[in-house]
Amino acid sequence: MLISVERDQYETLRVFCVGRNYADHIKELKSERLETPTIFFKPATSLVPPGNVIHMPGHGSDLQHEAEVVLLIGKEGIPKDLEEATAFIRALSLGLDLTLRDIQKVQKQKGLPWEISKSFDQSAPIGAFSPFNETFDLGNIPFSCHVNGALRQQGNTGDMIFPIPRMVIEVSRVWRLLPGDLIYTGTPAGVGPLLQGDSVTLESPLLGSFSWKIR
Ligand code: ZN
Repeated sequence: MLISVERDQYETLRVFCVGRNYADHIKELKSERLETPTIFFKPATSLVPPGNVIHMPGHGSDLQHEAEVVLLIGKEGIPKDLEEATAFIRALSLGLDLTLRDIQKVQKQKGLPWEISKSFDQSAPIGAFSPFNETFDLGNIPFSCHVNGALRQQGNTGDMIFPIPRMVIEVSRVWRLLPGDLIYTGTPAGVGPLLQGDSVTLESPLLGSFSWKIR
């Protein structure tokens, strides 16, 4: 998918996602807190721009929203420290890491990969991007998720276990960064089910407001 930021366009080939990055969400899923972030992939074909309809996947029954701040990488390379990591961030937005929780539970129990529970078609709704600049405080981005107007999730990047620059470093330890890479940075507590007919809205005073309909 082509991502536009001001006059630039970026072709996204890779969507990285970070799991277990907010302590309150780890608690609600009774997951174990780890020393390094859990990183997984979604195909770039799972991205859905705002205003679109998301179809219920047919291979599971408990579709859940995970509201997340998303980074767009604008440079190729491997940052050498946290300060340089920040310079790789071109823009930010909000996105949903849609998850079939019933399928994920089974995969976790069996010790199998999560792809069929998290990386299916349309599993990565993504908002429009705001350019990153010096006025942005990466450690204080408030955001929320509403379903049919009711508040479900409220988070702030200040509550992350692995702050944004650290996460860029962690991804780049394994994958040389490329312009267009997206990083979904994890979800706070309050994840819950989405039903047919629901309207889900992600919102941040810094990043804007984006909605999708479930059908
Ligand atoms: Zn997530």
